[in-house]
Amino acid sequence: MSRAVVALGANLGDRGSTLRAAAHAIAALPGVRPVASSREVESVALTLDGLDETKPRYRNGVVVVDTDLAPQELLEALHGIEDAHGRTREVRWGDRTLDLDVVAIDDLRLDTATLTVPHPRAGERAFVLAPWLDADPDAVLPGAGPVADLLAALGDDTERVEEPRLFDGVTRASRPDPEPTRATEPTPATGTIPGPTRTLTPTTGSTSTSGPTSTSGPTPTTGPTSTSGPTPTTGPTP
Ligand code: ADP
Ligand code: MG
Repeated sequence: MSRAVVALGANLGDRGSTLRAAAHAIAALPGVRPVASSREVESVALTLDGLDETKPRYRNGVVVVDTDLAPQELLEALHGIEDAHGRTREVRWGDRTLDLDVVAIDDLRLDTATLTVPHPRAGERAFVLAPWLDADPDAVLPGAGPVADLLAALGDDTERVEEPRLFDGVTRASRPDPEPTRATEPTPATGTIPGPTRTLTPTTGSTSTSGPTSTSGPTPTTGPTSTSGPTPTTGPTP
């Protein structure tokens, strides 16, 4: 099992509803369990020419999940959710109803034609770092360092949207799940990962913990971050 961080973004349509529906769809994927989620942030659209006040503003959020899916399987499942929300792909990095990007998967380093992990620009995007920090105050971007430090150095140009967390209303027991052991797990995972219960090893599906469900700690940083990948983080990227 892996712990994955997924960034969500939208600047067309009912952005908040879309992000919430997408987060719930992610939580309901077979082989995926919700761990923690952010509130939404809003920011000015970033285009190839820089910040563009004339474009619809973005809403962004982050969810943290445990998953049995392989990285490529997770990406394909996320593309399916994007498609279900009317995502079109004519203009790369253009306006979009929904963008779902894999930010990190444990401390995995992956650079294939279709998937680069950690996401190569995650550390440069406040609209990824701020909600990630909101979901997980102890988050670490593999190869780059604590998300709190990265965000402090970068400056946070996002605005917090005072709405519930994206996983609010999601419970492990209330969604379809093919593995019976999971239905007996405790607390729904809808909030911030609490520090005191974190450990460095993800639990198995049948392992219970007292208190909130998150048990995995920050991923260690081991080496340089990939910066050569072709894909921007959620949201438009120059
Ligand atoms: P954008 O770059 O604006 O997010 P898309 O969402 O259409 O555009 O993604 C383009 C491609 O980026 C995807 O088809 C996917 O194969 C690739 N990609 C590479 N790494 C990642 C990642 N970490 N998360 C999401 N997509 C990725
Ligand atoms: Mg994308």
